[in-house]
Amino acid sequence: MKIDVLTLFPAMFDGVFSSSILGKARDKGLVSFNTVNFRDYSNNKHNTVDDYPYGGGGGMVLKPEPIFAAVEDLLAGGDGAEVAEDGAKPRVVLMCPQGETFTQKKAEELAQESHLIFVCGHYEGYDERIREHLVTDELSIGDYVLTGGELPAMVVIDSVVRLLPGVLGNETSAVTDSFSTGLLEYPHYTRPVSFRGWEVPDILLSGHHDNIAKWRKRESLRRTLLKRPDLLENYPLTAEERKWLEELRAETGEQTD
Ligand code: SAM
Repeated sequence: MKIDVLTLFPAMFDGVFSSSILGKARDKGLVSFNTVNFRDYSNNKHNTVDDYPYGGGGGMVLKPEPIFAAVEDLLAGGDGAEVAEDGAKPRVVLMCPQGETFTQKKAEELAQESHLIFVCGHYEGYDERIREHLVTDELSIGDYVLTGGELPAMVVIDSVVRLLPGVLGNETSAVTDSFSTGLLEYPHYTRPVSFRGWEVPDILLSGHHDNIAKWRKRESLRRTLLKRPDLLENYPLTAEERKWLEELRAETGEQTD
């Protein structure tokens, strides 16, 4: 996968793109990262990329020309970028608190792409024509406002790249992650068996894989019921899981359906 990021603060990405799973994925050639400072595409002698809003009011607005020019250069294969070998058009993702709320499902969708371009905003916002005529997706990482789109883009990129084949050492670890299954993940334990008098559940020491798998699924359901019952609305329960859920509801004092 090829990832381009348009930003006024490219240095913010240095540590994130070279550390941990993302750094390893890049070293293995599974992903390439390219940051583009769209100030380099400013068409005026003071290199400004923002201007006062028409109609007045506070804050500055990002001008359309530099962002359009930077994206079009990337699409044309400029600045070290290449057009995807399969000819697929890259998704151009605008980071924006008004966008669709980012989810694991969206991460899985974006992980199918071969080329993503992220646009990080700053200041009061963007000229509306960027939203209307340049981008394919608008993503928000939650209902709060950050100073710029860099941290949100890092969040999205991290969650997408870890889904690419070969990126995680153990392929199954993304499959059992919270939200991938539709539920929250079950609890984990490691050594020691006894810590300050708190014991690891016996079942996990039994070596009985089927029973452990059942315990984990039941605990996943318990956690989801307690912490995120909304997820259960769309989760396709098997007959056994439905029975467990009724038991768990009774245990936790919830109403059974
Ligand atoms: N005035 C804008 C509004 O009310 O919608 C907020 C602008 S914010 C200060 C500046 C930039 O930070 C945005 O253009 C966007 O790129 C980024 N940003 C802030 N919060 C975000 C969020 N929750 N998700 C994604 N991007 C965000």
